[in-house]
Amino acid sequence: MPCSQNPVTRLVPVTADTHISADRTLIDGFDVLLFDLDGVIYTGAQAVPYAVESLNHAASTGKRLGYLTNNASRTTQTVADHLSELGISAVSAADVVSSPEAAVPLLASQVPAGSEVLVVGGEGLLREVARAGFTITRTATPKTAGVIQGFAPDVTWTDLAQASYAIESGAVWIGTNGDWTIPREQGIAPGNGTLIAAVHTATGAFPEVAGKPERHIYDTARARFGAKRPLMIGDRLDTDILGANRSEMASLLVLTGVDTPLSVLRADRDQRPTYIGRDTRTLNEYYAPAVVNGNVATCGETEVRLDRAVLTVVAGDPRGVEALRAACALVWNSSIPPTAVLVPDGLGMGGSA
Ligand SMILES: [Mg+2]
Repeated sequence: MPCSQNPVTRLVPVTADTHISADRTLIDGFDVLLFDLDGVIYTGAQAVPYAVESLNHAASTGKRLGYLTNNASRTTQTVADHLSELGISAVSAADVVSSPEAAVPLLASQVPAGSEVLVVGGEGLLREVARAGFTITRTATPKTAGVIQGFAPDVTWTDLAQASYAIESGAVWIGTNGDWTIPREQGIAPGNGTLIAAVHTATGAFPEVAGKPERHIYDTARARFGAKRPLMIGDRLDTDILGANRSEMASLLVLTGVDTPLSVLRADRDQRPTYIGRDTRTLNEYYAPAVVNGNVATCGETEVRLDRAVLTVVAGDPRGVEALRAACALVWNSSIPPTAVLVPDGLGMGGSA
């Protein structure tokens, strides 16, 4: 199945031969699997259930695995060590694509080699900027040609002020990522996007951003792994899936993190995933496509109807992921706004499939 086709939304007449051999798995058509981390592989210090086994199994079938992270404060080696400690086999720093690794080439395309660059951020970002041959400064000077801004817990008002001075003087401004929040042990804290917004408010300028959901980090990954048919696996529609769509990459949304069955069903058009799975086990399983016929959709043993704006599961497990796949195909192909659809309680919230 070409990855440009969308098995969730594609209209398939019931008379067509939609049979796919059950010995095929979802990842059969892909050469590189690109994973988001938080909410897909781990949550805080804990591995997400089934993630380690699923990734190791996928790797054993010859797939190349890569990891995309917007976090600019950890080095790629630190991320690789963390994944290894969780039990994922043979992870090296080169398998991890960080937002600084996407941001630095973006900067290099806009300022001369060896320029003075003001760095706001942590060790991971400093290392990438130095490796690219730029002269690092922490204070704006008349020679500062660029500002690169990433998150670190010790970023201060002084750092933001120096960035503002350089930007006001005409320096190119690149952000590693625009995440508004960052999850910490004690709760939700301001992320890099919030700190960028402070500099934007002071200067009126906007940075160019490299991380998800912008396409630069996906392009960096595609180039590094020589991917011809990559699949992005993530838990967030507004970053992982939006970015995959922008970079014309197939995507799998897993329901182990931020987004829920209801938020998937109600997703904006540009945030709709190609595939939906309850967790990363979906990668190594047969993927039943949804088939829409008029106001009915089927997926595996499940049948869903849409009458006016009322969605009903008429056969199969309403809590299974196949009911959700059928419901999404039906709603996304209808003229009814997804937010107006009345959805049965517990749709896709767990259960057998
Ligand atoms: Mg995530």
